[in-house]
Amino acid sequence: MNICEIYSSIQGEGLDIGAPTVFVRTSGCPLKCKWCDTLFAFTEGEDMTVEEILETVQGYKVPRVCLTGGEPLIQKDSYKLAQKLLDLNYFVSVETGGSIAIEDMPCVQNLRIVLDIKCPSSEMQDRMEFSNIELLGPTDELKFVIADRKDYDYAKEIMSKHEPICSIVMQPVWGNDIKVLAEWVIEDKLNARVLPQLHKIIWGEKRGV
Ligand code: SF4
Repeated sequence: MNICEIYSSIQGEGLDIGAPTVFVRTSGCPLKCKWCDTLFAFTEGEDMTVEEILETVQGYKVPRVCLTGGEPLIQKDSYKLAQKLLDLNYFVSVETGGSIAIEDMPCVQNLRIVLDIKCPSSEMQDRMEFSNIELLGPTDELKFVIADRKDYDYAKEIMSKHEPICSIVMQPVWGNDIKVLAEWVIEDKLNARVLPQLHKIIWGEKRGV
């Protein structure tokens, strides 16, 4: 696999926010979101076998692993890695950018899929594989990164059209006022969680945290 970085921190986003986690960040992504905060994952990376990755992860002695990117699902060995981590009793989450079908992932039922659906401000909304939403189970997460009211209304439209049964997370683009998003969600009594990027609140926009 081509791996950009492996490090231990706390989960800064989504349902597992605050939990100590090892992050395995794969290299490469088929999208180019306007506000992407991991552009370094497009160009940086080294080849590692699944066994080498497992050995590095096990060295941290942390029970949660997040496979992220870039886009982990463009590397077919991501499926093998996820299954091996599950076999070792890790809690595994896989963060995917929404453009790749998740149905090919054999262990999709046993891990937490964090599926990003890109809103208009990303300029990638036409690249989404919307059939993924129907495959999400109750323990999965559908995430919208929101830059403005247009994004928020778009996210509501997607929720209403696809009726996901998983948890919905709305996260403001870093630098935007989370209060504005929170007030929209309260006003609409929307079944969504408004969450910040905790790692950036703690450490700022740094890598490896
Ligand atoms: S999917 Fe993620 S890694 Fe890829 S361009 Fe968008 S934000 Fe960046």
